[in-house]
Amino acid sequence: MASKIAQFPFVRELEGFEFDAQPSLDPGQIRELATCRWIAHGDTTLFLGPPGTGKTHLAVALGREAIRQNYSVQFVTAATLVALLAKAHMDGNLDKQLTLLSRPKLLIIDELGYLPFEADAAHLFFQLVSRRYEKGSILITSNRSVGEWGSVFGDPVVATAILDRLLHHSTVITIRGDSYRLREKRRSGLLQKAGSALDNTATAPQ
Ligand code: ADP
Ligand code: MG
Repeated sequence: MASKIAQFPFVRELEGFEFDAQPSLDPGQIRELATCRWIAHGDTTLFLGPPGTGKTHLAVALGREAIRQNYSVQFVTAATLVALLAKAHMDGNLDKQLTLLSRPKLLIIDELGYLPFEADAAHLFFQLVSRRYEKGSILITSNRSVGEWGSVFGDPVVATAILDRLLHHSTVITIRGDSYRLREKRRSGLLQKAGSALDNTATAPQ
């Protein structure tokens, strides 16, 4: 398995995902994605939603499942990907880099939209999406709705062309709700309070 793992930021599995904490998600839809049929078909998956709602967790878990099913997977953040493409472009190696990035059967692009793209980046990204189109799957996580991608890419025309290809055979999962990280913080705050209250009343009759 190790040789096929591609730089996941952390280890997460679907078993560790609390669906109760994220009612906007349909567990059946995630289980369907975990079959990896969409990867066999070269389809796209988008996870959209605010920070802390489990997008990267699900992306990593699905990526690990794909590896278990013998697919090659590469994980990269959008910022790193764009930097790679821009450097290759500058060095005259763009074609080689696009070929490299087209090799894995699943390319996971995390955190699209946290940073707006530089002028050339949207075109480079478009070339990557075109190169992989209907050959290899792409999974993208983003804190922006697709309606906002025009401003993320800084070019509505290129954004439309990118979305046209990405959405053609795709599953778009929009997660709503609160950050799991903050929820955990709030919960631990509550638990501390409950704990100290219990301590104070430990000897009091119920
Ligand atoms: P996002 O990518 O949407 O910003 P993450 O996937 O990084 O959020 O989630 C933040 C943290 O909270 C991670 O450690 C993740 O494993 C955890 N987490 C988020 N949602 C859930 C959930 N529903 N069940 C279990 N852990 C979760
Ligand atoms: Mg994330």
